[in-house]
Amino acid sequence: MAVDDLTKLGRPGEIGFMVSAGALILVIEDEPPIRRFLRIALEGQGYRVLEGATAAEGMRQFGQDVPEAIILDLGLPDRDGVGLIKDFRQLSQLPIIIVSARGQEQGKIAALDAGADDYLTKPFGVGELLARLRVALRRASNSLQPDRGVLAVGDISINLDSRQVTVAGKVVHLTPHEYRLLSVLLRNAGKVMTHKQLLKETWGTGYAFETHYVRVYMNQLRKKLEPDQSLPKYIHTETGVGYRFYLPPE
Ligand code: CA
Repeated sequence: MAVDDLTKLGRPGEIGFMVSAGALILVIEDEPPIRRFLRIALEGQGYRVLEGATAAEGMRQFGQDVPEAIILDLGLPDRDGVGLIKDFRQLSQLPIIIVSARGQEQGKIAALDAGADDYLTKPFGVGELLARLRVALRRASNSLQPDRGVLAVGDISINLDSRQVTVAGKVVHLTPHEYRLLSVLLRNAGKVMTHKQLLKETWGTGYAFETHYVRVYMNQLRKKLEPDQSLPKYIHTETGVGYRFYLPPE
């Protein structure tokens, strides 16, 4: 990321939203200019920042304080970022946003499979970073509870008891797999879901590589749910990675 990106800071009005002040964010990144960029961006929005330049330092910071989210560089000098995510996931469900260099496609997917929430590819702008972080924090504090009553995102809602799905109040009929896929998406609204995760959660572990299933069923869901299929509002494709269900801003 160019240090030029620092010039994008300092005009909160342009970013277009306010964040809940004070959340503590742990930044694990070995490159000092990027750490500085992240600190300035985050503190400019009222977040508090902890820093670690290595995986070991990040782990230590995590153990000493209670961060509400982690921004993690996948290319650290002392350890593979994916292993680190697995360790964090043993301890906590806090949002993890990974930062990767271009071309680290496989690492990115492995990191998402290991439980990261979202990713940013260098270079990225501060607006994008803050938007992703805001969604991740919202998702973490969200009341979207798995097995209770109604799950609703935007105009789409699922009654988990009757298994009835409505779009803007109108009942929509889904096949059992469409229903399962939609409920997985809604429960993870805002989070990037890899093809593998969607397959595992919808069809079971034996189907982890049947990527075409996901594509076919996503098309079917879009036909049934999206007001305009050419411009999906709810089901967004993350090219080469998977899908993300829209989480509307508050
Ligand atoms: Ca790095």
